[in-house]
Amino acid sequence: MGWKERKATRKKVASDRIKELLKFSELHKDDELLSTNSIKTAVAISRRHKIRIPIKSKRKFCKKCSTVFIPDKTVRIRTGKGKITYTCLNCGHIKRIPYLKEKKEVKNKKLEI
Ligand SMILES: [Zn+2]
Repeated sequence: MGWKERKATRKKVASDRIKELLKFSELHKDDELLSTNSIKTAVAISRRHKIRIPIKSKRKFCKKCSTVFIPDKTVRIRTGKGKITYTCLNCGHIKRIPYLKEKKEVKNKKLEI
């Protein structure tokens, strides 16, 4: 096996492991220690192998303290001004995500002009 294939295999194994860990944290989100630890491990693997964690999954936990987001329990979600604001109730970290829908509309408007 050449190094390129070996690298591909390694990345595949690593990304499968990340997916498993994310799923695991989702299943055990009520267990703070267990879910936080699996998120931390997933993030560590993603960094080591330079693999991106899917955006969908990224929105499910706090980047700063790795707490799995449970609405009204570990996170406060607010919408407004074209953004969704996630406030981590564990560490206070704020994450803002712009509405994709509006972005697309802006793009279309630009095209019309
Ligand atoms: Zn946090």
